[in-house]
Amino acid sequence: MVQTRSQTGKTPRKQEYPGLVPTPAVRRSRPSSVKPTPEPEFEPLTPSPTPEKSAFEVVMEFKLRGMPYGENGSANGSTVPKGPAASDVAARDNLKMGYDHRVDNSGEFEFGGVWGTGLVMVFFPLLMWYMWVGQVYYNSQFPMPEKGEAIGDFAAKLVKLAYECSYPTGKAWLVYWGFLAYQSLLYVTLPGVWAKGNPIPHRNNVRLDYYCNAIWAFYFTIATVIVFHVTRILPITFLVDEFGSLLSVGILSGILVSFVGYFSALYRGAQHRMTGRFVYDFFMGAELNPRIFGLMDLKMFFEIRLPWFILFHVSCAAAVKQYETLGYVTPQVAFFLLAHWLYTNACCKGEELIVTTWDMSHEKWGYMLIFWNMAGVPLTYCHGVLYLVRHDPSIYRWSTGVNVSLYAFLLCAYYVFDTCNSQKNRFRQVEKGTLVVRKAFPQLPWQTLKNPKFIRCKNGGTLLTSGWYGLARKVHYTADFCQLTSWGLICGFASPLPWFLPAFFMTMILHRAWRDTDRCAKKYGADWEEYRRQVPYLFIPVSPCHPSSLSTKLIFRT
Ligand code: NDP
Repeated sequence: MVQTRSQTGKTPRKQEYPGLVPTPAVRRSRPSSVKPTPEPEFEPLTPSPTPEKSAFEVVMEFKLRGMPYGENGSANGSTVPKGPAASDVAARDNLKMGYDHRVDNSGEFEFGGVWGTGLVMVFFPLLMWYMWVGQVYYNSQFPMPEKGEAIGDFAAKLVKLAYECSYPTGKAWLVYWGFLAYQSLLYVTLPGVWAKGNPIPHRNNVRLDYYCNAIWAFYFTIATVIVFHVTRILPITFLVDEFGSLLSVGILSGILVSFVGYFSALYRGAQHRMTGRFVYDFFMGAELNPRIFGLMDLKMFFEIRLPWFILFHVSCAAAVKQYETLGYVTPQVAFFLLAHWLYTNACCKGEELIVTTWDMSHEKWGYMLIFWNMAGVPLTYCHGVLYLVRHDPSIYRWSTGVNVSLYAFLLCAYYVFDTCNSQKNRFRQVEKGTLVVRKAFPQLPWQTLKNPKFIRCKNGGTLLTSGWYGLARKVHYTADFCQLTSWGLICGFASPLPWFLPAFFMTMILHRAWRDTDRCAKKYGADWEEYRRQVPYLFIPVSPCHPSSLSTKLIFRT
């Protein structure tokens, strides 16, 4: 094995983040065939686990050696050997230690509590069917009662139309669940890398290992879809031709899996932070880290593969459909191909960075995450491209100049989105000594900060104050919003349906920013105030008017 100079001790190890106290290396047994990760351009503080083995192989090795692995065993991750005590971390995470972690004592309810969450759960599926009826029967407009039509009659008509255009056929069930099963197979067989999650305070600060191979799964899936299309086993155009059936299957599956996830957690006594209000708990979820046989982390699995893979393939289907009917693909549909590829590929290539995000470490696996991943994202984010493929290009044609500007706008927004998320997440990984180095395409300049500035917080945490995070605290939300707005702009203004996503996303992300700020303010206390002083802007780093004006404070300096 080739050793680098720093490994032989002749060269002092690079100190990329001076001032950061390295977490002591965690030793874990691993198969002798496993090679350590080669020395990257910046050094991880602990070696990252093997990228050569599939999840299945590694878990089987653990099992054969009689070592517990996964959710049910103590070796399902390493505990933090030194560093803050469990109670400190718990305090940082705003958990009340000393109480039963299964009970939410905070007295706080998010999303409007029982009524708010109940309304969302009823309203959202109905909205999805309503929009699809609009696409099919109302020339991509929102269905409205005709003059003199009674509301009851109108509602009955909508139900009838929805039934006609989105009956969940057996074929749609087979395709949707076949796709899910195929993704599970790829998850446990394809090569990938391991990444460590955040410490879990109520489990003695254990850090779960997450297996990340979505990038392989993505390209493997594309290859499989091509084979199915070329051999006509399942032409890809099925996704747009029978979208309605798929929509109903996605909605019903999301609801079904939410029930299974919830009651299975209760049955196994795996619930966490429960309020005792069924509707609210069902929405937020019962279990924090659901895993199947310790092998498949369900939150991770559902986060990317179903939503983003399906979304990307709906765009591909639209492009193929357009090519088959028009003989060419319009720049607008090609735009969606690029946009959906960029987003999906970004989620896959940076999958190991997702393991420490809020969704993974804090949110539970409930209706909110399950429904959103199984139905919300894949089957509502595609209304733009569905609108395009269902209409003549003369309706939405833009001049070359506008097309080029929108492509440039998308790429710029993507750049900020990608590098901003990378900077923060890699900073967190280096800090925790869990950095996983990957070279998945595209690696962009400024994804990793060299010698970043940060605030050392009294609770033992840190807050990054350089890079994009030094300009504004939520630049990545703005960049994400700009990307999704470009998806609306490329469709023009003849239909409101492509604009549903930017409007929805803005509402959701404002609320998310508020939730996160509230959580961080509690977690970091005075240090958060200092952070806000050093980085006063929230979404946009420049203010169009004087920083002290009221509108500026409301919009940019919350
Ligand atoms: P962030 O990546 O902003 O994560 C928030 C957490 O980051 C905070 O709770 C805090 O956690 C940590 N943090 C905040 N400030 C700093 C700092 N200065 N230095 C270091 N750590 C900091 O949020 P999200 O997980 O919400 O979003 C990630 C991406 O996903 C975004 O680009 C967003 O747009 C996108 N997204 C997309 C959605 C979609 O449907 N398309 C839905 C939701 C998100 P801690 O201190 O505990 O580490």
